[in-house]
Amino acid sequence: MQATEVRSYKHFINGEWVDPLDGETIPRNNPATGALVAEFASGNEEDSRRAIAAARRAFYEGPWPRMTGNERGRLLYKFAQKMREEEEKLAIIDVEETGKTIRFARDDINAAIALVEYAAGLASQVHGEVYSNLGENYNATVVREPAGVAGLVIPWNFPALIFCQKAPFALAAGCTVVVKPSEFTSGSALELARMAKEAGIPDGVLNVVTGVGTATGQVLAESSDVDVLSFTGSTATGRRVMEAATRNLKKLSLELGGKAANIVFADADLEDALDGVLFGIYFNQGECCVSGTRLLVEDSIADEFMEKLVERAASLKVGDPMDEQTDIGALINPDHMKKVLGFIEKGRNQGATLRTGGERLTGSSYDNGAFVAPTIFDDVRPEMEIFQEEIFGPVLSVSRFRSKEEAIEEANAVRYGLANSVWTKNLDTAMLVSRALRSGTVWVNCTIEVYPQTPFGGYKESGFGREMGRAGMEEFTEVKNVLYRLGKREPFFGGDRGPMGV
Ligand code: NDP
Repeated sequence: MQATEVRSYKHFINGEWVDPLDGETIPRNNPATGALVAEFASGNEEDSRRAIAAARRAFYEGPWPRMTGNERGRLLYKFAQKMREEEEKLAIIDVEETGKTIRFARDDINAAIALVEYAAGLASQVHGEVYSNLGENYNATVVREPAGVAGLVIPWNFPALIFCQKAPFALAAGCTVVVKPSEFTSGSALELARMAKEAGIPDGVLNVVTGVGTATGQVLAESSDVDVLSFTGSTATGRRVMEAATRNLKKLSLELGGKAANIVFADADLEDALDGVLFGIYFNQGECCVSGTRLLVEDSIADEFMEKLVERAASLKVGDPMDEQTDIGALINPDHMKKVLGFIEKGRNQGATLRTGGERLTGSSYDNGAFVAPTIFDDVRPEMEIFQEEIFGPVLSVSRFRSKEEAIEEANAVRYGLANSVWTKNLDTAMLVSRALRSGTVWVNCTIEVYPQTPFGGYKESGFGREMGRAGMEEFTEVKNVLYRLGKREPFFGGDRGPMGV
């Protein structure tokens, strides 16, 4: 695999490429090959403040929040077309910076474009309510206004896709934004900002500041000039963001970790379930907040199901992410690989049965990269760490259940609640189990399928707030009630109408 030319980026602030104040850069090496592929500006707190100030000015003085929804929608649509023109470039950037496979990176970009197109349509559909039934002298208009400056913190696992789960929805609502991508994968965010400018989105509306999260990202949470913050990342960092945001009580939406289960009942289409379980855990190397990292399988079919599953997992092709045939690419970096291998060690030590994988892959094509074999542990119990903790790697933990009730209890026995999947052909089972699952998404006879129309977010420690769909756009609005008194006011003192007006 050949890396493309090393990309060198600055911040993108107020429609211009801006040097970092410290003059420092962060090198990014391809996690599959070790080769240098990009250099990002290493921002400090002041760089972030410059980006926030540009967004603030664009919000107070610029045309964006004042345009009609149709005008904003048209520009967002042009932005989507620009993305389409450069979709292969965006996909390759994400491959080189994340280690994900080209096949799935192309899907990410396609889905990202669909999100921008959908948000473009939403821009003209922001509306409120009018109450004319408050008595003949009153009229209330309840409007949705853009919340202001939105801070968007993006993780490394889906750099372009998660950017588009947030930014176009904030822009459709009329907000101006400051994006803070991950220090490992900032390339596509910066290219997207350039494309937004080329599409005609005014300067200052979409700013990208890069650097380490504890400096650049933290300021977005702390600043009173950021009105709404949408964060995706780990639950630990989400807590820090929330603590910082308590000082100014900004609107927050947190999309955090997950520990999704695939629950396979004996009456499922087992061929479909096998494919779904395999895809659910190994898609994107398991570096996915909704990865099906646990399999709960009905005892009566467990042995046969496991045999086939282990065989298929072992046959997956791990390696060069640019090879069209590769199923599993490299993990994001060597430190993360160590963390994943540490969980595998804990699984062994805590008594789970290793059925396949369980090691770093070595040999000439693997030595410079962070590759871990597809791994399956059987006999996993709820008290084990591999059942409870977000591993974020290609490691599946399997447990068996005997009844619907037991399956529900085990699926819910984690602190996370982002997503789960149910595999059954019985309608009662599908509906009863999906209602009882404590997660923001439940997939029935499918898994990890996301559409622009449907909201996405977590229960429990997976966070709060929703992305995508109408609900995702509404996260970036404030609701304002304007009550009009018509004609002469009745005196409050001495009159017979109270403040509640009822
Ligand atoms: P983080 O939660 O640390 O990173 C997510 C984003 O937050 C990055 O852009 C990061 O910037 C930024 N960030 C870091 N610190 C702060 C801060 N104090 N204030 C504001 N923003 C901040 O995730 P990691 O990259 O460390 O990954 C660790 C674990 O998180 C993974 O192993 C996985 O379990 C989980 N994770 C979950 C994701 C999800 O989709 N739910 C996505 C990614 C990770 P920077 O990277 O530049 O430091």
